[in-house]
Amino acid sequence: MSGKLNTKKYVVGVDLGGTTVSIALFNRNLDMKKHVVVPTEAAKGIDYILTKISKCISGLIEEEQIIKSDLSGIGFGSPGPLNTDKGIVFSSPNLKGWKNVPVKKLMEKKTGIPVYLENDANAAALGEWRKGSGKGVKNMLFVTLGTGVGGGLVLNGRLFHGKNDAAGEIGHVVLFPDGIKCNCGNHGCIEMYSSATGIVRRTKEALKTGIKSTLSQHDANFTSKDVHQAALKRDKLACRIMEDTGKYLGIVFSSISHLLDLDMIVIGGNVSNAGKMLLDPIRKEFLLRTMYPARNVKIAKASLGPDAGVIGAACTVLERLGK
Ligand SMILES: [Zn+2]
Repeated sequence: MSGKLNTKKYVVGVDLGGTTVSIALFNRNLDMKKHVVVPTEAAKGIDYILTKISKCISGLIEEEQIIKSDLSGIGFGSPGPLNTDKGIVFSSPNLKGWKNVPVKKLMEKKTGIPVYLENDANAAALGEWRKGSGKGVKNMLFVTLGTGVGGGLVLNGRLFHGKNDAAGEIGHVVLFPDGIKCNCGNHGCIEMYSSATGIVRRTKEALKTGIKSTLSQHDANFTSKDVHQAALKRDKLACRIMEDTGKYLGIVFSSISHLLDLDMIVIGGNVSNAGKMLLDPIRKEFLLRTMYPARNVKIAKASLGPDAGVIGAACTVLERLGK
């Protein structure tokens, strides 16, 4: 087989998070060939992180016994805000000291491979769209419910970035005009209510009023998963909290569907593990509030789990190259 036939057969995905970095090698069909997850160790500085990532990439290439010129590029998913064209991460709340970091330039220098930067939630949206629950649909919203609420939009079969790479920030859609203050400076954003953090906060506030719940026996560090578990055991407060979490999302999804007339809304992130307990109240509220035909949207749980980000990052390379 000639060398030419073998060229550009692979892509690399990097999903940089505040705690871990997921790095994987894929073939052109986005089948994962090799995968490694390493701690971010953000406190050790930008150069340390990027050097570690480039060493991991070299390791994956060696293990698969391929050469650098077999790679089309590296898709690099990072928390933002960022600029995809310039390849600069402006800042990141979970990565201390990250200010105007030219990730594309630095990583290309370290690896000698073209690098394509993408917002991490957008990358996860691409992943779910190409290989997960949203496969084959034309218009899709991906929502990730974790510490915060993030999102990404695929419109007319393309990832929608907006003018400033800031599209898809569903976490900051306002639910309550006079609601509690959000990290973004606004008040009443959905992120403050339906994220894992929001679920815990609302539960703690309810417990303070003296409502009886099995959760009051927990130590102060219970998580949204504990609330979900308590709801499965029919704890009244936990059931109400989970139902409201879904109801709030249903309200926001209704507004978005009226605006965009989507095919599908895909819900990922840790909170989505609540499954039916979350999806049922979302669908109920959504149908109550949404006009025909926009109500005809499919609302489903994401299927790639934590790998959506790294798969989507790799997908970014193919998207940018128009493949
Ligand atoms: Zn906000």
